[in-house]
Amino acid sequence: MFEQFSPYHKTRCLLCRQKPIVSLVEPYCTECLIKILPRKLKHLRCRRDTIEWVIATLTKIFLERLKLQNLFSELIGHIVGDGSFEFFDYYDEKYHMKRRYYSVRYTPGLDKAEDARHFANLHKSLFGFEPKIYPRAKNIEVCSRHRVGHIIHCFLPPGRKTVTNPRIPPFIYNSDDNMIGFLKAIFKDEGYLYQYEGTEDLNLEIDMNTSVPERIKEEVATLLNVDCHKNTKDMNYIYKHNLPIKLIKKIETRSRCNVLDDISRILMHLEIDHILRFERININKNSITATWILSIGQKEGIRRLQRLGVINLNEMKVNVVKYPSSKMGIRRPGMKIPGDRVPTSKDIVDLFEKARDKVKSWKNVAIALKVHPKMVYRYRKGTSSVPVIVYNELKRLATM
Ligand SMILES: [Zn+2]
Repeated sequence: MFEQFSPYHKTRCLLCRQKPIVSLVEPYCTECLIKILPRKLKHLRCRRDTIEWVIATLTKIFLERLKLQNLFSELIGHIVGDGSFEFFDYYDEKYHMKRRYYSVRYTPGLDKAEDARHFANLHKSLFGFEPKIYPRAKNIEVCSRHRVGHIIHCFLPPGRKTVTNPRIPPFIYNSDDNMIGFLKAIFKDEGYLYQYEGTEDLNLEIDMNTSVPERIKEEVATLLNVDCHKNTKDMNYIYKHNLPIKLIKKIETRSRCNVLDDISRILMHLEIDHILRFERININKNSITATWILSIGQKEGIRRLQRLGVINLNEMKVNVVKYPSSKMGIRRPGMKIPGDRVPTSKDIVDLFEKARDKVKSWKNVAIALKVHPKMVYRYRKGTSSVPVIVYNELKRLATM
């Protein structure tokens, strides 16, 4: 079903040239990957029992117990989200040879103990062992094993994600279950729910950074003196609206975030409206990155994700933000402005007009009432009743 959408359905296995590829790192179909892998791993001086385990595990997930594939998709999602996949080369004194150690870790925030538990459980279902969970100062750490790294290595490039800019492995497009598994993990790790204070509109967002190519870096460096926003951590932000159009175009074509592009493709397949946009450039001492934001702003889309089991609104925190930006306290999702409401009447419309005369524009009325401009319109047109809190504020504003 996904065939029409998938950019990979045409990409055939490098060896048999018939079946579609399961990975972009190793562009083979499952059968050929399993055939080719032992030789590759031997070349990496991998121990024989490790090779046997890797092959048996891949066979189990991809050929025998296909239901495990959506769990594996979830695992990949967590590694792309709050996880990491890296390797360290070291010299083995005992055998006098260079060896490579793979590190697969998952480090969610301290408030996400349940997600850490879940990551460990995924290991149990997929690999038959449970990794240890360590509480750290600022987060929780789940350390997987070296041998799992050999499996992950078939699907994701090792290294810092901002630099490697990985793609979602094509096997995830094999089924809706796989795609939903992946999205579930990524939204758990990286998804944030926002609500403008005084409105009922929810916004679900994921943001990710990608490093900017060298040539563009030089161009950005010349802008540093002009339109910079400093934040506390020695990081400079330049927002898109302060950048020259030429530079924006370059970033939007050459510095895309592959994961968000791929997620956007999946959301399109699931018929969920969303926007993917380049937001700003981040500059610190060692690196220049571009921030991309994918946002789902319509209730319908968020509800659909809830129905598909991708997100659970009851468990997600809602960050209530003031219009237009600074962060506020936390409110449960889908909550209306509390208290009684009054239907729109001629009197209320008059009050709105008076308030606008005072503060010059409808936008300023919205800011003064701490509601979204859209809601001011709805109150005036009678498509939404007015919360008493807002009504009292309006009276105060109009008679100032
Ligand atoms: Zn093949």
